[in-house]
Formats: sequence, C-alpha cells, structure tokens
Amino acid sequence: MTPKAQESLDQLKKISREISILGTCGALLGWDERTHMPPGGAEFRAEQSGYLAGLTHKRLVDPRIGELLEALRADGLGNGNYSPEAAIVREIGRAYDRATKIPQSLVEEITKCASLGETAWAKARKQSDYSIFKPWLTKMIGLKKQEAEAVGYEDDPYDALLDDFEPGATVKAIEAAFTPLRVELVKLLDKIKNSQRKPDVGILDRRYPVDKQEDFGRLAAKAIGFDFERGRLDVTVHPFCTGIGPGDTRITTRYHETNFTGSFFGILHESGHGIYDQGLNRQEFGNPLGDAISLGIHESQSRMWENQVGRSRAFWEYFYPTAQKHFPEALGNVSLDAFYFAINDVRPSFIRTESDEATYNLHIMLRFEMERAIFSGDLTVDDVPAVWNEKFTSYFGITPSKDSDGCLQDVHWSAGLIGYFPTYTLGNLYSAQFFAQAKKDVGDMYAMFRRGEFAPLKKWLNDNIHHHGQRYRADELVQRVTGKPLSHEALLAYMTEKFGKLYSFA
Ligand code: ZN
Repeated sequence: MTPKAQESLDQLKKISREISILGTCGALLGWDERTHMPPGGAEFRAEQSGYLAGLTHKRLVDPRIGELLEALRADGLGNGNYSPEAAIVREIGRAYDRATKIPQSLVEEITKCASLGETAWAKARKQSDYSIFKPWLTKMIGLKKQEAEAVGYEDDPYDALLDDFEPGATVKAIEAAFTPLRVELVKLLDKIKNSQRKPDVGILDRRYPVDKQEDFGRLAAKAIGFDFERGRLDVTVHPFCTGIGPGDTRITTRYHETNFTGSFFGILHESGHGIYDQGLNRQEFGNPLGDAISLGIHESQSRMWENQVGRSRAFWEYFYPTAQKHFPEALGNVSLDAFYFAINDVRPSFIRTESDEATYNLHIMLRFEMERAIFSGDLTVDDVPAVWNEKFTSYFGITPSKDSDGCLQDVHWSAGLIGYFPTYTLGNLYSAQFFAQAKKDVGDMYAMFRRGEFAPLKKWLNDNIHHHGQRYRADELVQRVTGKPLSHEALLAYMTEKFGKLYSFA
C-alpha cells in the first residue's frame, strides 16, 4: 500500500470508530430501556435515541467517507481481495453505498410505515383479523420494492433486502440449501410423529424456583465461557444480547417459575451471542475487522451453544447432577434419560417462537417462501392467509384455525424486516457445519462436555470465526473453515442421528 493509501485508510478507520462509538452509546440506551428504565422515562428516551440515531446517520453518509473510499478503491482495495485492509474498504463501502443510495425521504416513509404498521399489526393479531393489517403489508411491500431498486441487485430484487442482514447472501444460494432441507425435514417430522416413543414434557413445567434458575443459568453460562468480568446478565421481557463495546457485553433472559427451559436455553442462546461478541478482536474495535459478520453467523453461535451443545446428552451427563441439586422437588425423581428426552421433544406447533429445534426451520422456510412470493408478485397480499395455511398443513400436518396462530404471529413484516427470516435458518445451517468441523479438528468433543470442558470448543470458535471479524463474508468463511459451501447436509445429518436415537427409528 502506498503511504497515501495508508493515510486514507487511517482516516477512514477513524471515522468508522466514531460511528461505532455513537452506535454503542445507542446500544447502552437501548439496553437500559429494556432492563432498568422506569416507564416514566420512555418519552425522553425516545428523544435521546432518535437524536443519537440522527447523528449516527449523518456521520454514516459523510461525503468524506465517499472520497476516501474512492481513493482506496482506485488503489486496488475493493471487492475480490481478502486482505484485512481490503475487507475494511469493502465493508465500510457496503454500508456507505447502502446508506447513500436510499433516499432520505424513502427511509423516513419506511420508518413511519413501520411504526403505524406495527400498531395495526398488534391490533390485527389481537383480534385475529388480517384485514386490519393487509393495507399496511401492501404499503410496506411497495416501499421495500423501492428500497431494493434504489440499492440495486444482480439477479433478484430480494437479494438487495437480504444484503441488509446477510451481506452477500442470494436467493439462489439460500434456495439451494433450503429446498432439500425442507423436503427431508418434512420426512423426518413424519417419522417422529409416527414413533410410539414420546417424552414426558410435564416434568419441565414443575416448580423451578426463580432464584435457583438464575443461579443455575449463571453457572452454565460461565462454564461454557461467557466472561462475567466483561459481561452482565439481566432480566427483560424479550431477551437479547447487546455489545456495549470492548470489555462490556450484556445478555438478558426472563424467568417463569413453572418453565425451566425458557430461561435456561435462553441464557445459553444469549451466551452464545455474547461469547461471539467477547471473542471479537478488541484492538480492531470500530472497524469491520472487529465487528460481527452477519445475523446468520451471529445466530450460528447462539444456536450452537443452545442446541448442539446445550441439548446434547453429554452436556447433561455433566450438568444433570447439579440441576437435580438445584431443583430437588422438580427433578429429584427424574432420570437423566427422561430429562434429556423431554428437553428434545419434537412436535408440530403453530407458533414459531415456541417451536422445537427440528420444526423451527420449517417455520422459517415457510416465511421465506411466502415473502419471496409476495415480493416477486407471484402471491397477492389478499391470498396470504390462505396460502400460509395451505403450506403449513403440507409441512406440519396441522392447520391453524385462526390467523393469529398463522400469518399474523410475527412482528417482522409490519416492521419492514423483509429478508430477515432466512438468517435464522442460515444460522442453524452454519452452526451445524461449523460444529461438525470443530468435532473433526478438536477431537472427541462430547467426551470433553461430559467432563465439563467447553474451553476447547470456545477456543476453536475464537480462532476460526470470531477473530476474523468481517474479513470474510459468511459464505466465504463457511467455505474456508469447513472446506464446503453452505449446504443442508450437516444439519440434516445431526438431526437424523439425534432424533433417530431418541425416537427409535435410526
Ligand atoms: Zn439469537
């Protein structure tokens, strides 16, 4: 790199760091709002957050960034180069291009439509009346089409929306993994449904004192590698994880006395996000090399600790005696096998957020297919409820009796989050692919879990995934780490083996 290019890069990193600092201030306000703020603070908090978001946006579209990018791109630091410097230019460039291509008037219209649309959606869901939400969905789809045109795309306008959540992902690559996964999952679900073996899930709804749940959750989060010197666990309504900056990662959960799994697996899930955040290179904070890649890769980390690790038999061989000590009333007379089966119960259900590890992806793929069809015009907004129910019946074998259990259950479409759903299943696919590779590289991981050793897996994730920041895009990282492109195979193999044993059909 020429000295002049180096100077441009340094300047770009400096601006990027300032934008990141503004972003983390917003994150702290957001964390406080959802954990500690009294209701009376809501109005002023909205003003604070709005002002900060405005400042951040102003910095994000600073023409100086455009000049620096232009100079660096002219110097050969653009796409198709995976050097750390090129990655900085590529990713700052992506955010800058996106932010400057979408007209401010369109951004404002989308924000307004999302706000009013969410209110309409909440009412529609409450009354299970799709007609209340329909005009807002129509409007939002129209606005999102304008956004896609403004951003630009190669093959499919939907790719421009995906790019906001999963940079570089395409409909083509996603469909290549999702379609065979869906076909095989429907078959797997059929086998599970036809099995005579069923777990006693009632044991999970017994009395689990909240203070003991918190104690046990913290103990597990610490054991898998969430660093409480550089993080906190607090209580909220809708759990999340947020990075406040180097050395400060916040995770959250919620407790119900008669629901053990919600809080416990929630803590493992958010710890997985938190371990990713804590594993980022803090020297690179404020530029893409110190930032997470995408929603899908983030979700791969949370789902790995929650499912591949936390719902494995080996994990519970280590933790179950401690669980029994914490909850003698609920688990004292329950065998490890009965408990392990109960936490891996699979059954078709209407609500995505309450679904199990195996059916979850069918919920997501249905939404992906629906929004693709609405977006391309193959499906009219009028036909959404009927087509939803039709698809649902063919994948799950049950039919929602009301739209609040069907197409009205999720907030995403009303909020303009179109192209977001696929990142959940991408997360599960990446997770399975990474975990299969980690097992090869690290050795007998389940034997390690049985001994309570989780550090080798965490280190593997630190080295192979977290440490790179955004140096590679998700698809490139998967190829580099596992030697294979994104595919349904690892996830399907993992599920077939696990559920085949539990439900005795393997
Ligand atoms: Zn998550």
